[in-house]
Amino acid sequence: MVAVGNELLTGDTLDTNSRFLTRAVESLGLAPRFKHVAGDREEDIVLVLREAASRADVVFVTGGLGPTEDDLTRKSVALAFGRRLIFHAELLEPIRIWFARAGLPMPPDNERQALLPSGAKPLINPAGTAPGFILEEGRTSVIVLPGVPREMRGMYEASVHPYLASRFRGGETWEVRTVRTTSVPESKVNEILGGLLDLSRNPQVGLAASDLGVDLRIRARAGSRDAARAMIDALVEEARARLGPAIYSETGEGLEQVTGRLLAERKKTLAIAESCTGGLISERITSVSGSSVYFERGVVSYSNESKEALLGVPRAVLTAHGAVSPETARLMAEGIRRLAGTDFGLSVTGIAGPTGGTAEKPVGLVCMALAVPEGETRIEEHRFPGDREMIRARSAQAALDLMRRHLTGC
Ligand code: AMP
Ligand code: MG
Repeated sequence: MVAVGNELLTGDTLDTNSRFLTRAVESLGLAPRFKHVAGDREEDIVLVLREAASRADVVFVTGGLGPTEDDLTRKSVALAFGRRLIFHAELLEPIRIWFARAGLPMPPDNERQALLPSGAKPLINPAGTAPGFILEEGRTSVIVLPGVPREMRGMYEASVHPYLASRFRGGETWEVRTVRTTSVPESKVNEILGGLLDLSRNPQVGLAASDLGVDLRIRARAGSRDAARAMIDALVEEARARLGPAIYSETGEGLEQVTGRLLAERKKTLAIAESCTGGLISERITSVSGSSVYFERGVVSYSNESKEALLGVPRAVLTAHGAVSPETARLMAEGIRRLAGTDFGLSVTGIAGPTGGTAEKPVGLVCMALAVPEGETRIEEHRFPGDREMIRARSAQAALDLMRRHLTGC
C-alpha cells in the first residue's frame, strides 16, 4: 500500500484507503505486508514505489491523481518504472462529459488526467474525473487509484476486484471473523485461549483490546471459502467453550445491536437513567435502526436534585449513601422503570474523574442497576481504570452487558 499526500503525512487526513483495500483483498488470499505514506514530492514517491514493487505481487497506490501541479502520482509512476507518459485522447472524453453534466467548462489542467505511463491499462472512474490505471511491472501489478475514498472504492469494486480475482484465481482464500468479548481483561483472555493464539496456526487468532473489551480477529486460510468457514466455525466453538458468556458476538456486532435484538425477540422494553455516562448508553441504543420497538426513553439525571425530582430517589438516601452508591443506582433504575412503564429500567451512576474522587469513593467507582419485572433489582459495582473518556465508555459497555447477561440468563 502506498498512500500519497502531504495531508496523510501530517495526519490531517487519516489513510482510510489502505484499510479498505486491505480488507477488500483478504478474500483473494492477499495478505498485507507493508504500508507506506509519501508526501507530495516526486523523488519520495519514486523511491517508495520502487521499494514496494521490489517486494510485493500487488502494489496499491492511492492519491495524487488530481489535475493540479501537486498531483505527482502519474509522473512518479512513469519515472519509477522507466515509462513515458502517453496522452490518451479517449480518456479525455469521459472527463469532458463529466464537466458538461455539471454545467462547467473543462479547465485545461484536467487534460493532464489523460496522461498515463506507457503500457498502463486505464481504469474508468465511475464517480469522478481522475482515471486510475494498472501497470504490470514484472510479476508486480501496480494499481493506481484516486485518493478520494468514494472514488477509490467505486473503481476498486468496478474494475480492480475482477482483475485481481482473475489474476489470483485458484489460489488460497482467506476468511475473517471477529468474535467480541467484554469484561475480561486482555491478559486473562490471553491466558484462557493459550495455544490457540500461536501465530503459526491456521486459523490465526489475533487479539485487539479496546475500552469496550477484547476482540478476537480470526483468519483462516484454505482452498475454498467453505473450507475456511468450517475451520473458523470449529475455532469459534473452542473459544466459546473457553470464554463462555464473556462472548457477546460471533459476527463482530456491537453490544447495542446484540442487546437490542435480545429485547426485540423477547418483546421487552427498556428505559434508561444515566448520570456519569451523560447519555452514552441511550446514544448507543438509539444508533440501532428499529430501536423504537424496545427503547422507551433515556434520561440524563446528573444532579442530586434531578435524581430526586425526576426519578424519585429520596433525599435521605442521597444524603446517607451518596449519589454514587448501590442504593442510589437501585432507586434510579426502579424509578425510571416505574416512570416509563417499561419491563426494564437500567441506571448508571459513577465518578468519571479526574476530579471528585475520595479515598472511600475513588475515581472509576461506578454503580449500575437493572430493575426487572420479577424479582430483585440487579446491582453491580465496578472500579474502572483510565481517564474520564475511558471510564464513561467502559461504564456504558458494562451497563449494556448487564442487560445482555440478564436477558440470556447468565
Ligand atoms: P488526491 O487524489 O491526492 O487529490 O486526494 C483527493 C482527496 O482524497 C483529498 O481530500 C485527500 O485528503 C483524500 N485522500 C487521499 N488519500 C487518501 C487516503 N489514503 N485515505 C483517505 N483519504 C485520502
Ligand atoms: Mg493529494
